[in-house]
Amino acid sequence: MIHYKSDEEIEIQRESSLLVGKTLAEVAKHIKPGVKTKELDKIAEEFILDHGAKPGFKGYGGFPATLCISVNDEVVHGIPGERELKDGDIVSIDCGTILNGFYGDSAYTFEVGEVDEEVKKLLERTKQSLYRGIEMAVSGKRVGDIGYAIQNYVEQFGYGVVRDLVGHGVGRNLHEKPEVPNYGRRGTGVKLKKGMVLAIEPMINMGRKEVVQDPDGWTIRTIDGKPSAHFEHDVAIREGKADILSTFEYIEEVLNKK
Ligand code: MG
Ligand code: MG
Repeated sequence: MIHYKSDEEIEIQRESSLLVGKTLAEVAKHIKPGVKTKELDKIAEEFILDHGAKPGFKGYGGFPATLCISVNDEVVHGIPGERELKDGDIVSIDCGTILNGFYGDSAYTFEVGEVDEEVKKLLERTKQSLYRGIEMAVSGKRVGDIGYAIQNYVEQFGYGVVRDLVGHGVGRNLHEKPEVPNYGRRGTGVKLKKGMVLAIEPMINMGRKEVVQDPDGWTIRTIDGKPSAHFEHDVAIREGKADILSTFEYIEEVLNKK
């Protein structure tokens, strides 16, 4: 079933979603060659706890960390550890919080040092595809309109849209109905209505769309070893215009100062 939120509930959820953006900005300050992914995880966990919230992913389905940190050909669900980031890497960081009973869930893909031009384009275009999808996230449209907008935008560049993982409703639970695929046909799927809150999260591969899971039971990576990008916002459905609850503003303030 779909959980519709009142305006009051959406404002509570906005606080959680904003905290994710602030956490990712704190993490962004420390992304550089040589940093271990487990160090970034610790920074995020402390920041979330210091703000009176709890990490949303830790313990979820047995996931062992606060952040999902996925490097280069890793798409999502990478486990932080001893790995050191290197110049030229890209790193997708997905973060969840629970604050006042509501989940925030947002992700951003960062550059580490100097990144190849073609890879930079993958990041820019994946972020752009998220906003194309969000434009469709208004009352009266359908889930397929979101997926179509994302897919139609990125496939012109020869990129692959991951099929095995999708966006989702989000609220008192991390994953609620409906599923929000990053591909689809216009005018199909669940009808969007005021009060829905969706996590829209394109996962876009530079090459083939197929992915495989590592033996660790979590890490998802591209089958062809090419890089993948991931950007995610929480969006409340309203009449006329989507209301983005999460934010990249704090993250991009940090990046612009680097
Ligand atoms: Mg996420
Ligand atoms: Mg999500």
